[in-house]
Amino acid sequence: MNGPIPHSAPLPRRRSEGVRVAGIVVGGDAPVVVQSMTNTDTADINATTQQIGELWRAGSELVRVTVNSAEAAAAVPRIRDRLAMMGLSVPIVGDFHYNGHQLLRDEPACAEALAKYRINPGNVGFGRKRDAQFAEIVELAARLHKPVRIGVNWGSLDQGVLARMMDENAARAAPWDAPTVMREALIVSALESAAQAEALGLGRDRIVLSCKVSGVQDLIAVYRALAARCDYALHLGLTEAGIGSKGIVASTAALAVLLQEGIGDTIRISLTPEPGESRTREVIVAQELLQTMGLRAFTPLVTACPGCGRTTSTFFQELAKTVQDHVRARMPEWKLRHPGVENLTLAVMGCIVNGPGESKHAHIGISLPGTGEAPTAPVFIDGEKAHTLRGERIAEDFVAIIEDYVAKRFRCANA
Ligand code: SF4
Repeated sequence: MNGPIPHSAPLPRRRSEGVRVAGIVVGGDAPVVVQSMTNTDTADINATTQQIGELWRAGSELVRVTVNSAEAAAAVPRIRDRLAMMGLSVPIVGDFHYNGHQLLRDEPACAEALAKYRINPGNVGFGRKRDAQFAEIVELAARLHKPVRIGVNWGSLDQGVLARMMDENAARAAPWDAPTVMREALIVSALESAAQAEALGLGRDRIVLSCKVSGVQDLIAVYRALAARCDYALHLGLTEAGIGSKGIVASTAALAVLLQEGIGDTIRISLTPEPGESRTREVIVAQELLQTMGLRAFTPLVTACPGCGRTTSTFFQELAKTVQDHVRARMPEWKLRHPGVENLTLAVMGCIVNGPGESKHAHIGISLPGTGEAPTAPVFIDGEKAHTLRGERIAEDFVAIIEDYVAKRFRCANA
């Protein structure tokens, strides 16, 4: 006899050190943190301040900027100050490659303004200079109480580690194949660098690790092994995920598997924006990934059917978009005035086949008339039919019903 089907849920989060990044905690018992990265020239203070503000307002809890020149390093404290004047206390993460030791040494105000440093063991320095430059950044971070992400990337893997691993592999009785050696080298590079950072005085509670690759199955394999071998907080992301739906699908496929297994303390979706597309898309995708998996709630999500030959016009698609755009636009205010509103569920359905049923599962749902149905749209609230909308103002009336429900159901205790 078949037993009851248990609810599917992510496994408990792997235990990790909690790392405080300004006011945000990554790892430990904290929820998975959403972060993003700007694509402006950091030396362009206006453009970078504006984009950080957009990413922050969209829900990015940390924002990373590239710090690649003296001009960019000098801009960082001014950007931080401008954001503060706008009332935005955004933790800014500095992304360093090649010359981070020099920039942090020459621009102490930048070193102080950043909430976290990201360094890449593969390009922090080369040859004999590598250890000295790595030590200079890590010792500065320890002195200023700044956390550091040791971010390994297979596109810039530490060649010294890779060469050593290949030599060790050649001496094996049954050598591993090249991709296996590469995956091992990524992990060894991260763990050896983390051990080196600890030996230089940086606490485990100030170290975040990442090992990014661009293949979904490689990423899953690498992070499973990394998670099993350490308790450092882990930053998840599929590097160079790509543009449009490919980037979203690939990132989601990889990260969802790992998050379901309890692996990952902060995520970034590395999307290439389509021409003209806002950088905030990567934040929305990250939030939607966490929310649809039941890990966090950020904004009411709209359930909508795909539409088919039974839908008579594009009105149904337009209404679904209107509703989703409306709740996103209203969230900054709702979040302050209506605690818990992020858990609101909405449904916009195209016809009577699944419309009433799906609408009853949501807090508020509307079933639009399909082909051959009477031109009326029943609205369900908490599972009960509450209104019937018709005519030209269905969208406006439905949005008004949502506003009324939010005001009454998610009333602020202090209002
Ligand atoms: S609910 Fe109706 S319109 Fe929507 S996909 Fe199903 S049959 Fe088609």
